[in-house]
Amino acid sequence: MMMNRTASVPGSADLIFGVIALIFLCVMSLIFPSFTGILALWLAFYFFSSGMHIMRAQNTGASTMRPVMAVSAANAPVVNTPTLADKMAAINIPKDLKCPSCGAAIRPTDKKCNYCGSSLVPLIDLPQPANFGDVQVGQSIQVTHPKQGVLTLTVHRRLYYGELWQESSGPNVPWTTTGTYFVGLTLDRDLFLLNWQSRFYLLDSHTPLTDMDINRDFAPYARQFAMSNQTADVRFQYASENWKIIDIGKFRIEYCDGDGAQISPGSVGRFIHASSGSDVLVVEDYQSGGSGGLDTLWKGLIIQQSDIKT
Ligand SMILES: [Zn+2]
Repeated sequence: MMMNRTASVPGSADLIFGVIALIFLCVMSLIFPSFTGILALWLAFYFFSSGMHIMRAQNTGASTMRPVMAVSAANAPVVNTPTLADKMAAINIPKDLKCPSCGAAIRPTDKKCNYCGSSLVPLIDLPQPANFGDVQVGQSIQVTHPKQGVLTLTVHRRLYYGELWQESSGPNVPWTTTGTYFVGLTLDRDLFLLNWQSRFYLLDSHTPLTDMDINRDFAPYARQFAMSNQTADVRFQYASENWKIIDIGKFRIEYCDGDGAQISPGSVGRFIHASSGSDVLVVEDYQSGGSGGLDTLWKGLIIQQSDIKT
């Protein structure tokens, strides 16, 4: 208790020291003008080293956060914190929102009217993911398809994935949200544009998977990749192509808006990303039970961020 109290205001000692030193410096500079420079240098050094020390103390721990996925960890519990959708549902939003400029129907998260283009103040401010944070349902985006050239496509549905991680791998260590969100966009032609970390996938086919499919075709390789702490060069044959695993992990659906099949926020799944040249394969394996999404195999192309204009 006593120890806590003395340490309760970090930096207060520095403040008091600073005030005393400042008064001392003023007095000394009046009496001995030549001392001012030496004192100022000494003061500067003190606060530089003290600042460096505090910064170093804050940096430790936070930088090692990385989603890990080990065999025994796959079925560990997922912490039941509210999703973005839960938080939004708690806010009372009037129905039938209209653009103040043109009267067109707008969504509570819209930042821009899709019809007249005027700026809107969103009633709900979604957290800003690193990519596609400003893309809203109903707008158009341009994607340079590696084979078909520039496509102008309307956004029909927006999906927020929350990244999950475990502090250490183990069956009893809960999965928690990292606070990082990635966005998937359903576009015209049934295309799905998915961003994960710094990767962008333009997925153009999706087929349902059964648990048996996943256990037979993908799970053994994902396990091998997990056991190497995601460093091994794990390859497998599927649909007469040779695939290399590039990432595995776990996610929770945080928010979904727009048209088409809705995936219930709160649904938890695992993913496997594998590449074969510029081809990409995405396995989404939702936890059974509850109202999770459907296990799906997506296939498509890896594209560059510069191929997308929002
Ligand atoms: Zn408008």
